[in-house]
Amino acid sequence: FGRPWIFIRGVPSMKFLPPEGPLEVAFAGRSNVGKSSLINALVGQKALARTSNTPGRTQELNYFVPDGYSGGGDDLPPMALVDMPGYGYAKAPKENVDAWTKLVFDYLRGRATLKRVYVLIDSRHGIKKNDDEVLDLLDKAAVSYQIVLTKTDKIKEPAVVKLLAETQEKVRKHPAAFPFVLSTSSEKGKGIDELRQAIAETVGR
Ligand code: GDP
Repeated sequence: FGRPWIFIRGVPSMKFLPPEGPLEVAFAGRSNVGKSSLINALVGQKALARTSNTPGRTQELNYFVPDGYSGGGDDLPPMALVDMPGYGYAKAPKENVDAWTKLVFDYLRGRATLKRVYVLIDSRHGIKKNDDEVLDLLDKAAVSYQIVLTKTDKIKEPAVVKLLAETQEKVRKHPAAFPFVLSTSSEKGKGIDELRQAIAETVGR
């Protein structure tokens, strides 16, 4: 995560995907789960991922890579980060939900370089029905994923411990889930190093 990261592309459908190159890790979560804040905390940049997206409107996969690679030949970045569009926005029209599912499922199924999806869950809410649907989608696509609790500063420490145990128990029935749940607070910088470490191990660095 050493270099500055840059946004390279927003992908509204599969034909706009960059050619497969570096290994990818992606981030998914309900709108407002704290995904932009977590990505910004990971890379140590305040404004890489936008935190002010209108919920439910941004239906694109946003690609980020470390700056300074030509993108050609062997000069590939060690990995790319992919910010998946938020889901679960109550007022989203059905067409948007369908478009989201199609884009995400096509991507999950068709991307050999995708190593893992980090599914973010708001500590105050735990796994909701639409999160569970996304976990099922990931199982179906057979893409490895790991749950990351966000905003743990918003609940008390014993509640975090309890939620971690409950969430761990829930993911056990999901075949593609990594059995260990991470907890983070972008606000307090908690769990960020552990997440960086997990990602580095995932892409084999
Ligand atoms: P996104 O829609 O998933 O990208 O979520 P954002 O990163 O834009 O965050 C949504 C809201 O939650 C914003 O008001 C953030 O300031 C707030 N937020 C994000 N992460 C944290 C956190 O770790 N702790 C607290 N207290 N608030 C957070």
